[in-house]
Amino acid sequence: MRRLSGKIVRDHVLERIKKKMQELALKGDRVPGLAVILVGSDPASETYVRNKREMCLSLGFVHFDYRFDEDASQDELLDLIDRLNEDDRVDGILVQLPLPKGFDENMVINRINPDKDVDGFSPANVGRLSQGQDCFIPCTPYGIMEILSFYGIETDGKRVAVVGRSNIVGKPMAMLLMSKGVDATVTVCNTHTKDLRPITMESDIVIVATGRPGTLDASMVKDGTTIIDVGMNRIEDSTKEKGFRLVGDCDYPSFKDRDVSITPVPGGVGLMTVMMLMVNTFKAYERRMGR
Ligand code: NAP
Repeated sequence: MRRLSGKIVRDHVLERIKKKMQELALKGDRVPGLAVILVGSDPASETYVRNKREMCLSLGFVHFDYRFDEDASQDELLDLIDRLNEDDRVDGILVQLPLPKGFDENMVINRINPDKDVDGFSPANVGRLSQGQDCFIPCTPYGIMEILSFYGIETDGKRVAVVGRSNIVGKPMAMLLMSKGVDATVTVCNTHTKDLRPITMESDIVIVATGRPGTLDASMVKDGTTIIDVGMNRIEDSTKEKGFRLVGDCDYPSFKDRDVSITPVPGGVGLMTVMMLMVNTFKAYERRMGR
């Protein structure tokens, strides 16, 4: 089994952005700004928001932190987005999903100016992605493309199974893989897929994003397969200080003696997601500065 470390790829991309930040500092330009909005206190969301803040600060971006109680009104949230859309110091706006019950996620995401939509979830960005136009690529699939490219994993003419069809992972992932220049042959699976095994078995690359541990095990792939495990599942574990551990959607130990390449959880795709958010924020900044 070959372990595809996300950390190595993350550090590689990080160096690229750090270099650009040094160039900005030499010119004395303003720095990129990212606004992150969290509604409620979901523990996983709190962790994601903290990671984003730490990454922003370590790069020298300006970080604007906004928090609402779970019982805040949607209008308050929309008002804030309107203000951030107009704020020249803010290049990117991110609303941490999922929102608590009662919020209309589509309406909220739609309200973000597409030029500041660094998560790439707005219909304008999704439309651009599907048409192969310049856009903000959703961070998780974008990070996966970086991993494939860094490790020299060929996609041209390859068969890829994407297991999961969510708007934030599965669908944009499939769109990227089938785009011109990437040129994979893609099968997208969901819970109605009758039998995953024959599909994953004939695939050169399998991308698993189901949120269900054990979705893919070693009996479901052929030798030489590249496996990207997107899953991030908290499993109760009393031996851990926090009372849980993180596992992916793949049965990682089952691949130990197989001739496959696989991303670990943690230490794989998750690190790239935060990194690509910074890449998108830098891109939004450059566009707004007319570069
Ligand atoms: P989601 O919105 O719940 O979507 C899960 C998808 O998987 C659905 O399309 C579902 O099908 C499909 N699915 C579930 N079980 C399946 C099975 N046995 N066979 C085939 N398809 C199956 O989840 P998500 O937001 O895409 O996230 C997926 C996982 O990735 C979660 O663990 C999440 O925490 C993780 N994640 C990680 C990152 C990261 O940075 N590493 C980022 C985002 C998400 P239906 O549509 O039919 O229900």
